[in-house]
Amino acid sequence: IRAQVSPITGEKVRSQGAVIVCYDITEIRRLELLRTEFVGNVSHELRTPLTSIKGFVETLLDGASDVPHLRERFLNIIHKETLRLQRLVDELLTLSRIENQRQDSGQGMSKVQEAYEKIRPVIEPYAEAKKIELEIKIPRDLPEVGIGIDLLSQVLLNLMENAVKYTVKGKVWLHAFHDDGKILLEFGDTGCGIPEGDLPRIFERFYRVDKARSREQGGTGLGLSIVKHIVEGVKGKITVASELGSGSVFICELPTGNGEKKNEEESKEGN
Ligand code: ADP
Repeated sequence: IRAQVSPITGEKVRSQGAVIVCYDITEIRRLELLRTEFVGNVSHELRTPLTSIKGFVETLLDGASDVPHLRERFLNIIHKETLRLQRLVDELLTLSRIENQRQDSGQGMSKVQEAYEKIRPVIEPYAEAKKIELEIKIPRDLPEVGIGIDLLSQVLLNLMENAVKYTVKGKVWLHAFHDDGKILLEFGDTGCGIPEGDLPRIFERFYRVDKARSREQGGTGLGLSIVKHIVEGVKGKITVASELGSGSVFICELPTGNGEKKNEEESKEGN
């Protein structure tokens, strides 16, 4: 610890520590190299037919157009090279359209991460106000989960809001895994826990362990039944383990894949 001058106020302050920010730029560098290589290849591919077209047009203008068999042969070559250029440009446009679409869908973000980003503005200030640590672990390469983003966000919101609501101090976490063709979402907390006798009933509509306290906390008793309905609607499963006074862990098992539309329609029909 040594005395320093604050860059903001100009006062003498004693620094209490340091902030080190590290970025892993391996992926950025790799993409940069790919892009440079790609631009190089494209320029070469475009230049070859263009040079050829230019050469034959100049030859025709220099007099070859007066010789019928040369004129026809050169015009055929020019036509062929023009078609090649056209195909190349069409393919480049298609490629750039596909790349843009990929970037639009959350820039490679997994759907679970995207759902968390949606509820982050609600959960983070709530946890911060109660001085509860939030730990979110979502692997970047998590396979696609077979549920729509809105339903998934609702599941995350209900479970994480409960976790913070029923925790006085400690930690709330969301860990996502991929196992045996399934996506597992673990929502944990170091909160008050749920008595063993109540565990089988907490997913029922309007069921609350401590009615007075739950009402006081703004609960309706519907949150978990909604979660169960959504999860089972996409052929997933929700389980809970809890210890009174230590905390609770809810595990959502969800299918992988892009079958969300079909599943959601089925879940609506079931309503
Ligand atoms: P509520 O709106 O009352 O929170 P929920 O359906 O979300 O209704 O939950 C039902 C009951 O289950 C709650 O009233 C609470 O008693 C209990 N519960 C749910 N999540 C937790 C948790 N993470 N820790 C402790 N108790 C919980």
